[in-house]
Amino acid sequence: MPEQADAIIIGAGLAGLVAAAELVDAGKKVVILEQEPEASFGGQAWWSFGGLFLIDSPEQRRMGVRDSHELARQDWMGSAEFDRAEDDWAREWAEAYLAFAAGEKRAWLREKGVSFFPVVGWAERGGYTATGHGNSVPRFHITWGTGPGILEPFVRRVREGVEQGLVELRFRHRVDRLVTKGAAVIGAAGSILAPDAAERGEASNRDVVGDFELKAGAVVVASGGIGGNHELVRENWPEWLGTPPEHMLSGVPAHVDGRMLGIAAKAKARLVNQDRMWHYVEGIENHSPCGRCTASASCPDPRACGSTRPVSACRCRCSPASTPSARSSTCARPATTTRGSCWISRSSRRSSRSRAASRTPTSPARACASCCGSASARGPRMPWRRSRRRAPTS
Ligand SMILES: Cc1cc2nc3c(=O)[nH]c(=O)nc-3n(C[C@H](O)[C@H](O)[C@H](O)COP(=O)(O)OP(=O)(O)OC[C@H]3O[C@@H](n4cnc5c(N)ncnc54)[C@H](O)[C@@H]3O)c2cc1C
Repeated sequence: MPEQADAIIIGAGLAGLVAAAELVDAGKKVVILEQEPEASFGGQAWWSFGGLFLIDSPEQRRMGVRDSHELARQDWMGSAEFDRAEDDWAREWAEAYLAFAAGEKRAWLREKGVSFFPVVGWAERGGYTATGHGNSVPRFHITWGTGPGILEPFVRRVREGVEQGLVELRFRHRVDRLVTKGAAVIGAAGSILAPDAAERGEASNRDVVGDFELKAGAVVVASGGIGGNHELVRENWPEWLGTPPEHMLSGVPAHVDGRMLGIAAKAKARLVNQDRMWHYVEGIENHSPCGRCTASASCPDPRACGSTRPVSACRCRCSPASTPSARSSTCARPATTTRGSCWISRSSRRSSRSRAASRTPTSPARACASCCGSASARGPRMPWRRSRRRAPTS
């Protein structure tokens, strides 16, 4: 355990883990403070599709997509607009990120073992043209293994850091205050929360059993967004959209509570564009609520879920262990693999193969094998890899 950390990182989601991994590579000592139990290690990214923005990649070129740094820049500026005085840093950040995505990003990730599904998706399309909003060409590179796949190298590096005595992971440590000296942030203080057996993505208790205060040379706030905190969403609701809705859905776990924004502001952080939020519009009300799910965009079988997880988290929860009826939805991401994930259960579609799987008691891994072949750590079966493209017959 580091006696005096070089850096404190608040939040053990992907952002915090990437920062920690980089610091470990530089030989620095890091303390990671995370309010949730270890079960939620990795935060939202574990639930994510792992779609990554890359510009002019080999995957795009193979699909015949013509992309360039300039085109991506034009698309980005067309979406972001940067029309407010407070956008100065955002503009700088956008330029740096575009250069990263067109440059070293792919090689950096490949070096860490991240690979990509060969079909590039077209997320955030906007109006399809290069003059308006959105990506004018497909740029959504899906990480092999989706969310867990993108987390894996960073989790591994942080765990290695723990073994090397460079990283200390402090779960159930909720930061309530940033410690300041003059204009500088020199540490973080907060509450130690009671242990909780909540599973990944589930809401955990907020019972305070102690407190802490730590100091370090640098403090990194990587605490995620606000989508799980509807009150905060309402507070920041854009004026031009009128009165915020009384009832909202969440597509994110409860820990996405946005509390750190206010805490950072008290320490004189400059918050900008608070009325400009990004929420996935994928939630629908659960038509057959089990009384525990908050909503269900894609939960394959809410009856079997037995979970208080939000929409997105819900879908991978149903396993044969829950109830007999859960056999129909099986296919959690197999615990033994970081790579496989079942697209059939993710999208709630039930093919004849998954229906066949539902008739016999089976393990999640076996059920996976019967619908997408991902029982091993080799990921979903890809038949087209074996059959070479045939020449047209007519
Ligand atoms: C279903 C789904 C699909 C997605 N798909 C994609 C995709 O394909 N491509 C893409 O780019 N993005 C996607 N996203 C978004 C992406 O996953 C998130 O933007 C990203 O993972 C956020 O990472 P983060 O580290 O910033 O925040 P988080 O993952 O939210 O992590 C923040 C951590 O900070 C902790 N924390 C917060 N406050 C405190 C505090 N006061 N004290 C201590 N700890 C605190 C939280 O508990 C949490 O663990 C998706 C998200 C979801 C939910």
